[in-house]
Amino acid sequence: MARYSGPVCKLCRRESMKLFLKGERCYSDKCSFERRPYAPGQHGQRRSKASEYARHLREKQKVRRIYGVLERQFSNYFQKADKAKGVTGKNLLIMLERRIDNVVYRMGFANTRRASRQLVRHNHVLVNGRRVNIPAYLVKQGDEITIRERSKKIAAIQEALEARERRGLDAWIELDQKNFKGVFKGVPDVQDLQLPVEEQLIVEFYSR
Ligand code: SF4
Repeated sequence: MARYSGPVCKLCRRESMKLFLKGERCYSDKCSFERRPYAPGQHGQRRSKASEYARHLREKQKVRRIYGVLERQFSNYFQKADKAKGVTGKNLLIMLERRIDNVVYRMGFANTRRASRQLVRHNHVLVNGRRVNIPAYLVKQGDEITIRERSKKIAAIQEALEARERRGLDAWIELDQKNFKGVFKGVPDVQDLQLPVEEQLIVEFYSR
């Protein structure tokens, strides 16, 4: 599956907020958004009133960029969320949250979702003892995620685990850091995700 490979700091500047796409750099004074908190491009500093459409679009783009999902895949998620029982916006966020690349990031084995995706793609991650190398794989309640034995020495994983403490551990994640093992305890409530997102606007975007 394709992925966005352009400059990520521009995405934060476009969404007018920090999306934390660069790991430790995001917490330092090197953060581009801290230095230039306006949209990229020649007209980035222009002030204009956002239309309704723009508000809906920006909300959708924001979530897409946080989770690192391209448009077509995101739209597929939305369709599945819409067909499922319950509230569409919430279903959508939960589905994204269950992606293995996101769960590996939440456990702290990678500093960013992008790096986490790389770990999955390169066969460093096991789910219930089996290799899973598809970043879109959806983790279920009780699934045990481990780093493969020979991958435990990778410096980036060890550094990420050290840096994880800054982010803390989410209530729905259990981590045995010494053994590079984590458990996805259950599907979180949307409000526990603490995402700066109004998911209803995304639903309205696709309902136009
Ligand atoms: Fe966004 Fe700043 Fe991180 Fe760049 S360094 S991805 S601008 S939060």
